[in-house]
Amino acid sequence: MKLREIYNNNKTVISFEVFPQKDDEAKLLEEITILNKYNPAFISLTCGAGGKENKSFELLKDIQNLGINVMPHFTCITSSKKSVEEGLKEIENIGIENILALRGDIPENTELRHYDFNYANELVNYIKAKTNLSIGVAGYPEGHVESPDIKSDIINLKKKVEAGADAIFTQLFFDNNKFFEYVQLVRNEGINIPIIAGIMPIKSYKQIVKMTSLARVAIPENLQTKINKYKEDSKSMTELGIEYASKQCEELINNNVMGLHFFTLNKSYSTSQILNNIL
Ligand code: FAD
Repeated sequence: MKLREIYNNNKTVISFEVFPQKDDEAKLLEEITILNKYNPAFISLTCGAGGKENKSFELLKDIQNLGINVMPHFTCITSSKKSVEEGLKEIENIGIENILALRGDIPENTELRHYDFNYANELVNYIKAKTNLSIGVAGYPEGHVESPDIKSDIINLKKKVEAGADAIFTQLFFDNNKFFEYVQLVRNEGINIPIIAGIMPIKSYKQIVKMTSLARVAIPENLQTKINKYKEDSKSMTELGIEYASKQCEELINNNVMGLHFFTLNKSYSTSQILNNIL
């Protein structure tokens, strides 16, 4: 089923994100099987910014063979037009219907960079012209790290929508007000496609430090106090993550969010507990 149909009813749609786990794919498929009990509309599979890593085709097939709709992430900043074309062909041959079109982070090693696609809107344009795939794109409730301000980021988001995007998947956030304000700003720009909330349950102090160093993600003071308290206690940190994300999801559902997309980090436990709490 395509993204447009998936987000075409009044119920909040559940979906999950996983990443390729080359060292233990069997374990990943086990975790996905557990998550599948919650009837996700689809599972999305991340990719590295390097063109080669777009090619987790075997894993995409393995997930599909579990009877699950799968949406590959697809970056373009290190890819030539030819390799993008080949990758898209392969994806369509597998029978996949949806794709998350991304630019990817600009590589530090300039030799890896290609200039066939400079921004995600160019990739969306290309996918729209060359395939029948339904297209998701990334959105940033607190602004993308390279953007001077949220307004210019949303103007750039609009370019992806005008190129043919069907849904916006947001970066994770811990302050629902940031998401609600973002939705309002996006709607004010005349963008009307579904905006899906990215949810990441906190699991460890290390994860928080890494995440906040890579992306603009504010941590509310009350949450930060608790995170500091459980710095050395991973069990309590996991339980805090479940409790916090459950409350976040409840509030989002009460405010008619169209979809919740869980960044599972390839572990079913926290996401399953959250869904047990909210469904
Ligand atoms: P773009 O939409 O191109 O935006 C990048 C920056 O350029 C922004 O600051 C934007 O405001 C600006 N911009 C956009 N278009 C233009 C334009 N036409 N002219 C001038 N400026 C412009 N990365 C991975 O490597 N693999 C993944 O699997 C992956 N999955 C992700 C999933 C989600 C839900 C999200 C939110 C992000 C994901 N990312 C992933 C991260 C993403 O690749 C990075 O954030 C990257 O830096 C930007 O990608 P983008 O598609 O948002 O880029």
